[in-house]
Amino acid sequence: MSLKTDEEGWVTQTPTEQSELLEPAHDVQVTLADPRADPNSPLYSVKTFQELGLHSQLQEGLVAMGFTRPSKIQEKALPMLLRDPPMNFIGQSQSGTGKTAAFVLTMLSRIDVEKQTTQAICIAPSRELARQIMSVVTAMSKFTKVTTEFAIKDDNGPSASSRINAHLIVGTPGTMAFYLNKRIINKNTIKVFVLDEADTMIATDGLGDHTNRVKTALGPQGDPLEPRYQIILFSATFNDKVRAFADKFAPNANKIELKKEEVSVAGIKQFFLDCESVKDKYDKLVMLYNILTVGQSIIFCQHRHEADTIAQRMIAEGHKVAALHGAKDGPERDRIIDRFREGHEKVLITTNVIARGIDILQVNMVVNYDLPLMSERDKNRFNPNNDKPDLETYIHRIGRTGRFGRRGISINFVHDKKSHDLMEYLSREMGREILPIPTQGKSEEEIEEYVKNLLKKDTTVGEAKQA
Ligand code: ADP
Ligand code: MG
Repeated sequence: MSLKTDEEGWVTQTPTEQSELLEPAHDVQVTLADPRADPNSPLYSVKTFQELGLHSQLQEGLVAMGFTRPSKIQEKALPMLLRDPPMNFIGQSQSGTGKTAAFVLTMLSRIDVEKQTTQAICIAPSRELARQIMSVVTAMSKFTKVTTEFAIKDDNGPSASSRINAHLIVGTPGTMAFYLNKRIINKNTIKVFVLDEADTMIATDGLGDHTNRVKTALGPQGDPLEPRYQIILFSATFNDKVRAFADKFAPNANKIELKKEEVSVAGIKQFFLDCESVKDKYDKLVMLYNILTVGQSIIFCQHRHEADTIAQRMIAEGHKVAALHGAKDGPERDRIIDRFREGHEKVLITTNVIARGIDILQVNMVVNYDLPLMSERDKNRFNPNNDKPDLETYIHRIGRTGRFGRRGISINFVHDKKSHDLMEYLSREMGREILPIPTQGKSEEEIEEYVKNLLKKDTTVGEAKQA
């Protein structure tokens, strides 16, 4: 099937028409833990969802979602994931390439609907992401009898004495661990344990502790050739340190890995805007407002209170924006993200809480109002004199745009030597250019016009360089 692209080579299909992904030309590196598995077998190199032998009801679900063909990660991972006996799996592929479908189809394929007990669990780092994964589960299982339940913090959630028998449960690790430890969920019938955003799930303080509690509650996997349950890890990023953790967490796994230079999405064009001061950053953000609302935008900043302050000021000045962060309560967070998804607000000002996983196709611009720092991720290791940029979070943040081959740009606000140096480090580590938006001697209108053109027309490196 040929790919519909516009004159600049961008995929132009709507989500329901879309059939193919603009994928990097290079191949992913595949490691098979089981030497008997033959990478040349027909099952291994499947080309359509039909050839995967998925349940017909699941195929119907995929058709209803407009998924006509698998993406590369789906095509490569599903045969390994669906094999019997099950094997652990560690999968890496760039943001927006369809990892969710790979693990959701695996969970759904392994559920026996005749047995009304929990058979698959999936954990993710935020309630927003857990809810999004559930919406994918719901869509894909539309023609099945699979039942689902959340394990996310909820004031009206189950008491310690209640029972949940849903086939598939999606949640956050703290609540999932609680449900398992209180026997609200029956751990003995669980066949699949999925970690989305697995690198942060196993290696970030706090999250990692909860995730380990979930695994401990599930108990040992048993015979590696016939494990009691399958462990599946997915993320766009696994740095070298995390890889070692992942191997321990999911031993003897089949793997799909990316090379370091392949991790960030080439289609997301990255820029920076020189600001004179912290105050100037705010002024520049307001200046860009008209552009931020051409599609939808997500503005990432460092602190919760900063997200609130910026949002309040912008609202007071008559702009329509929303702020989302972890200090708000669950129902309010749900309302804010749902409204943003539906397009009621075009600009969402937030923190790292939604840096990962969130899939909103209309988001065509990400602004790093502040660049992410390691000290925010690992609060216990805070060292003001030796803070480093958080490369993984940066890659995930910009990955909120440019999903499944779509166009997207990111703009970093830099205002002093330190932020410049941080950005250069990120650029070097990714092996990608971050280009300046020319401001010298330019009026606000000219800058606005320039960025508008980046969004609208060609965002190739060549053009930006000449400007
Ligand atoms: P990832 O988890 O890899 O970042 P997602 O699973 O969120 O990416 O998928 C990104 C987007 O691509 C979603 O909107 C999803 O609906 C879409 N998508 C995934 N797989 C397919 C497919 N095979 N065909 C069409 N669209 C797809
Ligand atoms: Mg994802």
